[in-house]
Amino acid sequence: LDDVSEVHVALTADKPHRRMIAIGSGKGGVGKSTLAANLAVALARRGRKVGVVDADIYGPSQARLLSTEGQKPTARDKQLIPLDTESGVRLLSMGNLVEADRAIAWRGPMVAGALGQMIEGDWGDTDTLIVDLPPGTGDVQLTMVQKHKPDGAIIVSTPQDLALMDATRALNLFHTADVPIVGLVENMAGYVCPHCGEVSDPFGSGGMESVAEQINVPFLGRIPLDIAIRTASDAGKPVAGGDDLRGRAFDAIAERLEA
Ligand code: ADP
Repeated sequence: LDDVSEVHVALTADKPHRRMIAIGSGKGGVGKSTLAANLAVALARRGRKVGVVDADIYGPSQARLLSTEGQKPTARDKQLIPLDTESGVRLLSMGNLVEADRAIAWRGPMVAGALGQMIEGDWGDTDTLIVDLPPGTGDVQLTMVQKHKPDGAIIVSTPQDLALMDATRALNLFHTADVPIVGLVENMAGYVCPHCGEVSDPFGSGGMESVAEQINVPFLGRIPLDIAIRTASDAGKPVAGGDDLRGRAFDAIAERLEA
């Protein structure tokens, strides 16, 4: 893996244009969408005007995470108007645009078109756009990073070796497209037993931090494997939006992002 330090630029809070941060992962199921939703909510709680684009076209989950299932965004002058959600972030998701089983059959150009329409929606005074990318490093992701040029990318992985290898591929995707890596996040590191409180590391821990060190990019934080995070997500109320202590891990990431 190359040292990508030369492409790292800090995202400054007072940048004049709307910043777009892509959340990527090498594979599915590592918590990319969970991070995207919670980070968006955490940033909104810090006073940011945040929008989320759910670009995970084949498995959009933001409609559920941000509690907008069944709602359809409207359009004005052919521009999509994002949905307002309870947690204060705005959302455009494939999950709100097409029936779950329809998009699966879509071809590349249609997917690219839908993505473009969401990114170029009527975001108004939104200052931070969080893009939940599909997992992996396929054509959609490449088009996305090349055509829409996010200001930065955050890569999330679980601590296992294989997941880390996949994450490395995702890193290379952004590197190739000259998208700066804002930082890495390790998810599902450390399991707190709800019965006895004992902490164990089912997938190991620390792997992502050492990758970050190796390639000289910031390590943004670690999120424990915690059933409450999943139940809150399933209920459409991301932990970062409540007073639950569990939200702090996401808030800390938001804080580092703004630093
Ligand atoms: P991805 O977007 O990478 O496919 P998701 O964010 O959809 O992954 O997460 C996959 C599943 O794992 C979801 O059911 C989610 O609620 C759960 N999950 C994600 N992160 C955590 C965590 N830290 N603790 C507990 N469950 C988690």
